[in-house]
Amino acid sequence: MLKKREYKNSIFNIFENGKIVFGYTETGFKKEYLSEIYKCEILDLKQIHSDIVFFSSDIRKDSEGDGIILDQHGKLIIIRTADCTPLFFFSNDFTNAGIIHIGWRGLFEGIENQIFEKINVPVKDINFYIGPSIESNCYEVGVDLYDKFKDKKYRDRIFTKKSNDKYFMDVNLGITLSLLEKGIKKEQMSYSNICTFCDKNLPSYRRDRTKERIFNFMLLKPKMSDSFGE
Ligand SMILES: [Zn+2]
Repeated sequence: MLKKREYKNSIFNIFENGKIVFGYTETGFKKEYLSEIYKCEILDLKQIHSDIVFFSSDIRKDSEGDGIILDQHGKLIIIRTADCTPLFFFSNDFTNAGIIHIGWRGLFEGIENQIFEKINVPVKDINFYIGPSIESNCYEVGVDLYDKFKDKKYRDRIFTKKSNDKYFMDVNLGITLSLLEKGIKKEQMSYSNICTFCDKNLPSYRRDRTKERIFNFMLLKPKMSDSFGE
């Protein structure tokens, strides 16, 4: 679905059509490259593993939260990840779109549900793309997390027991099952199927304890009337 592009010897991956661009960067790609390429203002958040989702027009310099819904054209939003999941979404007509940051805390808080509360689009018209993130086989967690998720219907499908007090956790399956519970169909979901821990071209916090992050970005292109004036 996404295509590789190069800029200043760094790689980024994009989906693009006449209305939208979204994608993710690989290790070494600098945030300012995105403003150079797309020539627009960048909006991002101080991410805090919450269930707080902003409309892009409400973002201020110190805004704290973990999801952005684009309600503007010509602004580029960024969500940073290194093992956590970037959940991209967009309506069939590309008028509603955004990115949510989901780690185990976000999944526990149900941040993905904010999409349905904040946008007024029929469930059948929303598409999702799960970007590079840590896979279950590489994501060992303690029994405390398994216990914490006891009220989630999907719990026993996303945790695999490894030993008495260790489990593997599949955050992406948790997101998928949560969205299916909301009425999303499997055909509306797509996946990068790339594990940040396994793919050495992507930063992984678990693997490297790195400060480096993937920049997951999205831009609704300016409308024709915006570019040519009224
Ligand atoms: Zn892996």
